[in-house]
Amino acid sequence: MKSTFKLAILATTLTLSANAMASEVNVYSARKEALIKPLLDQFTQESGIKVNLVTGKADALLKRLKSEGANTPADLFITTDAGRLHRAKEADVLQPISSETLNAAIPSNYRDPEGFWHGLSVRARVITYIKDKVDPKKLTSYEDLADSQWKGRICIRGSGNIYNQSLVASMIEANGEAITQDWANGFVANFARSPKGGDRDQVKAAAAGVCDIAIINTYYLGAMINGKDDAQKAAAAKVALFWPNQGDRGAHVNISGAGVTKAAKHKAEAIKLLEFLANEKSQEWYASVNHEYPVRAGVEWSDTLKAWGTFNADTLNLSVLGKNNPTAVRLMDKAGWK
Ligand code: FE
Repeated sequence: MKSTFKLAILATTLTLSANAMASEVNVYSARKEALIKPLLDQFTQESGIKVNLVTGKADALLKRLKSEGANTPADLFITTDAGRLHRAKEADVLQPISSETLNAAIPSNYRDPEGFWHGLSVRARVITYIKDKVDPKKLTSYEDLADSQWKGRICIRGSGNIYNQSLVASMIEANGEAITQDWANGFVANFARSPKGGDRDQVKAAAAGVCDIAIINTYYLGAMINGKDDAQKAAAAKVALFWPNQGDRGAHVNISGAGVTKAAKHKAEAIKLLEFLANEKSQEWYASVNHEYPVRAGVEWSDTLKAWGTFNADTLNLSVLGKNNPTAVRLMDKAGWK
């Protein structure tokens, strides 16, 4: 009796110390705190694993991961755009993981084929147009935006932006480099102005009469429609969303996602957190709070997304966006895309 009691105490002590050692996970997130913190808190409540969150700009966090190397406290790196996740993989700061749960939850085109990163939400880069000025029947594809009918009518941000680089990378994969170079030359010639600002600024410029078409990520329109800024709301009300390339490969999509760091000291916890972020409840919240699409099939869409309707998305494995990134950057530069 006495020895059984002792053993029980010993077992409890061992379990406790194992928990104490393994009960935290450190996250570097390029996503804003408001987009991620409530989920992390929920994770802690359910798992007992404490989450230490550091937020910052994507490129700065990657730089930090590189300079910290094996000494980084980070276990998980969360950022947007497959192109950036690919850069992190190439920079040798991530490690491959394998999880049946993640494989079942996330379609294979939204995760790295070798398991270095996994997508957690989906966004599309779409054509928005001024309802009074553009007949949507004239719109078809990204390719068509190089046609002279759009001369002086297009607003889009600069070529330094990863979203544009990834869009061009997807076109290189679909059409080849030479055709995409020709396209970029014609597309840039149709710009209404030298690129400046972010995606929202393109919609604002269109609403102000600078251009008729603005190329943007879907969630920016969602944020403008649902936000508190009256000027943004008014600008967003003037545009409609057009789903490009529905007659062929589908609209260009990208992800926000995450990868376990190469130096992770809490690898099991980091995988557990990833699996939590991919579960149905998290997916619904995580996508809707930033007006994104859940990466997981069968998860309810927000009302804003429902209003935009269903669409065909390019099924390209998004690791290709990273692979084609250097070619895309060179090609955009050659086209004079500022
Ligand atoms: Fe963004």
